[in-house]
Amino acid sequence: YLQSVLDALCDLSSTDHLTGVMNRRALLAVLEQELDRVTRGGEHALLLAVDIDHFKRINDRYGHPVGDEVLRVVTQRLRDAVRPMDDVARIGGEEFAVLCPNCPPSFAMAVAQRARAAIEGSPINTTSQGSIPVTVSVGGAFALPWVKGGLVDWMARADRQLYRAKQEGRNCVCLEPVLSADVSAEEKGLLFGWSGAEGQLADHDQSAQ
Ligand code: GH3
Ligand code: MG
Ligand code: MG
Repeated sequence: YLQSVLDALCDLSSTDHLTGVMNRRALLAVLEQELDRVTRGGEHALLLAVDIDHFKRINDRYGHPVGDEVLRVVTQRLRDAVRPMDDVARIGGEEFAVLCPNCPPSFAMAVAQRARAAIEGSPINTTSQGSIPVTVSVGGAFALPWVKGGLVDWMARADRQLYRAKQEGRNCVCLEPVLSADVSAEEKGLLFGWSGAEGQLADHDQSAQ
């Protein structure tokens, strides 16, 4: 009962009570602001969707409280892996989002890989179950202010890349390719309508420790 009250209160607030970072509701508000900024200023904003790999196995094997411990450590590592101006949010059970404002496309893969490598880099020490190796899959997409329904579309595109990263074997990063700046807005809309699985960027860096 207490838990459900806590959950309800946290839902009304902007903080995820387990990890202390923004919850989904707060992230949506921040993303909305960021889209506004991108529309006016034209700078690039990158959204990463991060999901723990095979998290159910961790819960099943070690129990839910250990799973919670892992969630807290993953959160802290993600925060440490990004810049202070970047926002980390827990938006679902074992799903996180990282918003990187003012991130040039040429930096995106490095930023995403740093987040991924921060989790894989060393096993997570737990209080009762020793250290547990954990990995995450990462999908990423840039804000496209010219796309209608911007916010929902942005999150869906990051999620699509996360789905690809899972399919490509997990513990990897997939980013949506960025269309070149010299294409007009209308052309971008058209191109975007056609973009399928082809020509997308995938990057496996299992060796990064
Ligand atoms: P995948 O690599 O495809 O993402 O597999 P997965 O096992 O991580 O994904 P799945 O969606 O099957 O399982 C997610 C699990 O996360 C199931 C659920 O019990 C657990 N979970 C969700 N919220 C919490 C939480 O707050 N604490 C703990 N300990 N577990 C949670
Ligand atoms: Mg998962
Ligand atoms: Mg998930």
